[in-house]
Amino acid sequence: MKTPRKQPLSALFLALWLAGCAQPTTQTPYFDPGAVAQEEAVQRAYAERGQEIRNTPYTEQELAQMEQRLATLAPRIVKAGQTLCGNMGRDPQSCTYTIRLSTDDHKNLNAYANGTEIFVTPPMMRFANTNDKLGTVLSHEYAHNIMGHVQAKQRNAMAGLALGTIADMIASSQGYNTGGALSNLGVDQGIRAFSPDFEREADYVGLYVMALAGFDIAEAPKLWRDMTAADPEGAFLTGSHPSNPERYILLDHTKNEIVQKVKAGQMLVPNVRPET
Ligand SMILES: [Zn+2]
Repeated sequence: MKTPRKQPLSALFLALWLAGCAQPTTQTPYFDPGAVAQEEAVQRAYAERGQEIRNTPYTEQELAQMEQRLATLAPRIVKAGQTLCGNMGRDPQSCTYTIRLSTDDHKNLNAYANGTEIFVTPPMMRFANTNDKLGTVLSHEYAHNIMGHVQAKQRNAMAGLALGTIADMIASSQGYNTGGALSNLGVDQGIRAFSPDFEREADYVGLYVMALAGFDIAEAPKLWRDMTAADPEGAFLTGSHPSNPERYILLDHTKNEIVQKVKAGQMLVPNVRPET
């Protein structure tokens, strides 16, 4: 059955169309519609990558390939780290750390340093799928060890514990039972104290390691855009780490600093803060 109201409406649309109503006035470039389909495939793959990194199970073969990849890149990082320590007036051998695959974490896109070793999780190995990207990650962690951040955080935690314990004792002497809450808070605050600053320093010093290891340092800032695509949840958070946009900017500035030093024929050594 026909509805009588449709006819006048479509006639109105046709009239508007013919009148050239509300059309753009500039001439956008012509492109092949097939090119859009191709780009769509590229961007779909990009969008799905973060999910895939975390959700695809690891085969023994892939894990073995990751071990191999780390074993190939690690000597470059170690040598560069030793050179940087020498440039900073320290014993190069004291900056020798082992780099290995973390076998117990198959879920988190992560890498970490414990003061003597560096670990990379399998999801991070998948994410850092070029040597320059993996070089960025490894150099950052190596810098944490070079700069003694783990030990510094432990000292801060102990200082926090001491302060918290005193605060608990004072509270207790005044008749308040804190149940040790203030010493726990102290440890927590001690660990968090300067944490984003240590991360900034690891990004900064790490880029020097990366340059000395012969990687393309221009790739380092880009890693943080890729990281936002792969793991958007934490990208704009601040707390223990600077946000991804801040890390991009800091690395980009550090890259310019290193490029200037190389052009000027200067030794690659991080700038030291003026004494206060
Ligand atoms: Zn870090």
